[in-house]
Amino acid sequence: MEGKGKKVLITGGAGFLGSHLADLFISKGFKVIAMDNLITGDIRNLEHLFKHPDFEFHHHDVSKFVSVPGELNYILHFASPASPIDYLKIPIQTLKVGSLGTHNLLGLALAKKARILVASTSEIYGDPLVHPQTEDYWGNVNPIGPRGVYDEAKRFQEAITMAYHRFHDVETRIVRIFNTYGPRMRLNDGRALPAFIGQALRGEDITVFGDGSQTRSFCYVADLIDGIYRLLMSDYAEPVNIGNPQEITIKEFAEEIIKLTGTSQKIVYKPLPADDPKQRQPDIGLAKKTLNWEPKVERTEGLKITYEYFKSLPAEELFKDPYGKKF
Ligand code: UDP
Repeated sequence: MEGKGKKVLITGGAGFLGSHLADLFISKGFKVIAMDNLITGDIRNLEHLFKHPDFEFHHHDVSKFVSVPGELNYILHFASPASPIDYLKIPIQTLKVGSLGTHNLLGLALAKKARILVASTSEIYGDPLVHPQTEDYWGNVNPIGPRGVYDEAKRFQEAITMAYHRFHDVETRIVRIFNTYGPRMRLNDGRALPAFIGQALRGEDITVFGDGSQTRSFCYVADLIDGIYRLLMSDYAEPVNIGNPQEITIKEFAEEIIKLTGTSQKIVYKPLPADDPKQRQPDIGLAKKTLNWEPKVERTEGLKITYEYFKSLPAEELFKDPYGKKF
């Protein structure tokens, strides 16, 4: 098996992407440590791995010094709040995990001679003036807007990662993740897809922000995870976009969810949040060329699987405030 004798640390391991990564690395025979402070992560995303002999969970906040005993071959830094509600509710933690957390993990990579992949984001392009977004575009970001805590932490993350690569020769990889969906997304985190499906399941109107003409390009989680694995195993140290270039307006997306769920509710329009990007579509030419990767799952198929997942959750989840218990 590919991963035999190799150990990987996944931060944000109890989150949406982190838990899918944990599954992939376990299936390839790696020893996996999932680390999470469980502010936005959910331990239930990992419960099925608890009895696996190659799996460990460490409850820890990576903004504080990170210690892992023994050898470590790979680090995947996926700990971060990542939704508009998070940026408003936990702005300082968002800044800290992207900056201090990344610094701690780069230090760990240096000490262990481990290769590290950090999760960056299409948000580093801000409200982009170049379309579709290529990796050589520097972005159009408002540092002091509500999304600034995420965007600027991720921009700092890219800068410090390249500095450790250039100054300390650490093997680094940077993935710029575009909108991704699938099972284990948080139901009430304010993102478009869980918001629309949650509203349909509760029998509420579907809230489209602005006039719904803003675009996004949604990637199914299995495709994204495959791209990330290929990037980690490649020798390419500069940022690579991973996402699905199939672009859609948010209004059309809401209509797709209405059709999928069969809800009789209608679209209602709400004010557009500050700095909401008007258009977003990854140029994935570099990923195709360097990683021989492109997404395979059609949106209709991915959305069906995701809807089944949300339907399978206990009904009370539908009404839970994601911060109700913890803050
Ligand atoms: N959006 C919406 N209604 C909602 C939640 C989100 O119209 O209830 C819009 C949001 O304004 C944005 C798009 O859907 O234009 C995608 O939002 P999301 O938070 O999923 O991702 P991001 O803006 O970070 O790409």
